[in-house]
Amino acid sequence: MGRYSEPVSHALKSSKANPAGELALLRRICQRAARGKKNLALKLGIGDDCAILAPPTGEEILVTTDFSLEGRHFRRDWHSPESVGHRTLARGLSDLASMGAKPMAAFLSLALPLSAVKDSHWLDGFLDGLLGLAEACRVPLAGGDTSESPSEHILADIVLLGSAPAGTALRRSGGRAGDLLYCTGTLGGAAVELASLPLSKLRTWSKGETQPHLFPVPRLGVGQKLGQSGKVTACIDISDGLSTDLAHLCNASGVFAEVEAAALPLHPLAAKLPRPAALAAALHGGEDYELLFTAAAAFRMPRSLAGVPITRIGRLLPRRKGKSEVTLMSDDGARRPLEPAGWEHLR
Ligand SMILES: [Mg+2]
Repeated sequence: MGRYSEPVSHALKSSKANPAGELALLRRICQRAARGKKNLALKLGIGDDCAILAPPTGEEILVTTDFSLEGRHFRRDWHSPESVGHRTLARGLSDLASMGAKPMAAFLSLALPLSAVKDSHWLDGFLDGLLGLAEACRVPLAGGDTSESPSEHILADIVLLGSAPAGTALRRSGGRAGDLLYCTGTLGGAAVELASLPLSKLRTWSKGETQPHLFPVPRLGVGQKLGQSGKVTACIDISDGLSTDLAHLCNASGVFAEVEAAALPLHPLAAKLPRPAALAAALHGGEDYELLFTAAAAFRMPRSLAGVPITRIGRLLPRRKGKSEVTLMSDDGARRPLEPAGWEHLR
């Protein structure tokens, strides 16, 4: 992993175009990252060849990486730079949340086309979004790399490190037949908001209105409480859509599942749609970044954790030959196969 100070000098040596712009870009990232909240696990942040981390005694380290590619994960004409920065970090934080980890540090590698290097407004907005969420979640930006991109597309790659007490990290693989299936928060809002983005210049968002696609909230507090409870058998974050992520959980756990349509907690944006469209958004719309998890039926699950509502939406079943992996019980009680049909970004 390169450090901001070091690779830059290499990048400058090889870069013909606009070294001054690139250097200014780095200086801005470093200055702003240094102002962020400290995290006790981070012994040394930006400024040397490596960062130094010391996880709390008795904890294990969890690592996740995600890249956000312009044209695939975001569009500059739909997503504000603040939203791109926020979402870049939120995706990785949601993966830490889904395994019950507490974030320790983030590392950002950023390739910007010349047009974005020159546009200080874009980078400032991106950093506002990314560092604003980092501050709220107490995760310091501890290093990374940057380069001018020869293509016209922005690429932001984030690496996140977190920790969890040894043996408590939640996995996808522990679900058992008979367990109940739960989710946090509400579903379908991100897909409905994404579908509205091409039109969104026509409307303004009122303050306090949630924007589940543009500014998703990673469920770190809930994830840590679920991990500490010792009662959760399997967990995954809903990044690709409930139908797709539930199939991942079933596969890893070696079970089947049934979801009750009537039990699904719809986001207010989805609830406004006709019922079939609302259900499609909740079942297949991606990027809600809620947690989907299971626990034994005998365990009394709280109705909310860390201020986030918890809803029982179905149960796990034994695998049975000739049956489908995931079944949907419709509003009328009929059961149909639920094929994985999660959201594919911007396609
Ligand atoms: Mg995930």
